[in-house]
Amino acid sequence: MSIVLKNISKKFGSFVALNNVSLKIQEGELMALLGPSGSGKTTLLRIIAGLDFPDSGTVAIHGKEVNRSNVSERNVGFVFQHYALFKHMTVFENVAFGLRVRPKATRPPEQAIRQRVMELLSLLHLAGFESRYPLQLSGGQRQRVALARSLAVEPTVLLLDEPFGALDAKVRRELRRWLRRLHEEIHITNIFVTHDQEEAMEVADRITVLNHGIIEQVGTPEEVYQTPANAFVYDFLGNYNELEGWRDDSGIVQLVESPQSMRVTLFARPHDMIVVKTPDQQQYLRATIIHINPTGSLIKLELERDDGTILQADVSKELMDTLQLQKSDQVFVRPKRTRVFE
Ligand code: ATP
Repeated sequence: MSIVLKNISKKFGSFVALNNVSLKIQEGELMALLGPSGSGKTTLLRIIAGLDFPDSGTVAIHGKEVNRSNVSERNVGFVFQHYALFKHMTVFENVAFGLRVRPKATRPPEQAIRQRVMELLSLLHLAGFESRYPLQLSGGQRQRVALARSLAVEPTVLLLDEPFGALDAKVRRELRRWLRRLHEEIHITNIFVTHDQEEAMEVADRITVLNHGIIEQVGTPEEVYQTPANAFVYDFLGNYNELEGWRDDSGIVQLVESPQSMRVTLFARPHDMIVVKTPDQQQYLRATIIHINPTGSLIKLELERDDGTILQADVSKELMDTLQLQKSDQVFVRPKRTRVFE
């Protein structure tokens, strides 16, 4: 089911939560809505679900305008961050709930309900847990039961609002992998909200970056990371260094001023910084290593320039060993790749 949003605007009082948002989500796509707190992600999700209504603009699901249809008519499933399970019901009954409350005419027979629930529990690695109560489960298991419950009614669209929030980092990683796999198995159109760039990068087919109620960029994880549309997207998607640069008439950017050059601000990712002990012909910035963080695949160096500004550089362990870099060493750094946002 494709979802087409056209010129959606939404105000709360005089506060503009969404400002003329247009977006197309393809059938079977896993789309992340990524943005800082208050950027309008949840509001957009609620409008797609039919839990809230836009002041202007249209929502179409599979070519059909659904502006005036309510939640139950849209056939969307959703899981919100603190979406509580029914405490007094077992895992099995929680998952079966959506099917059991259907009117008699559309309710599947008991045998079919049982089969569907057991299939979902097995798909979500919850087989054997059907008789437990929510309080007897871990946070991650509860999240998966909530997902199983939303999938039981076979929605054509699944909306997830920070589904893995409030879980520890390891469980989050496991659930992300699992969501990706699930998505590949059942090909549901899936929109999930997150403020965690890594989560969006790892799970989504495409990412919509929101800021102050507008869309800054839509693209694959690679597109938004490698070719950010503007400084906001660049900033939001990772650490960076801000450097003073000079651009001449022919567009060449340098770290030192030359005749007729114009001052520009350069942005460079930490992994794009070259660190040497002895400078060659290139232009370098002199700095001192003030901190070394060896965790992760690259070693993170914190460097202080002579003027007191701080730079970050991610370097390989091999380079650290070859140059025998240590805290308080003086080094020379230069960006191998920079960006300028006008
Ligand atoms: P978070 O990551 O913090 O959940 P978000 O991007 O999901 O943020 P929204 O929940 O969509 O943001 O809220 C967008 C803005 O609209 C916020 O500033 C919020 O305070 C405001 N807002 C949301 N719902 C209401 C409401 N019912 N009444 C008034 N203001 C609201």
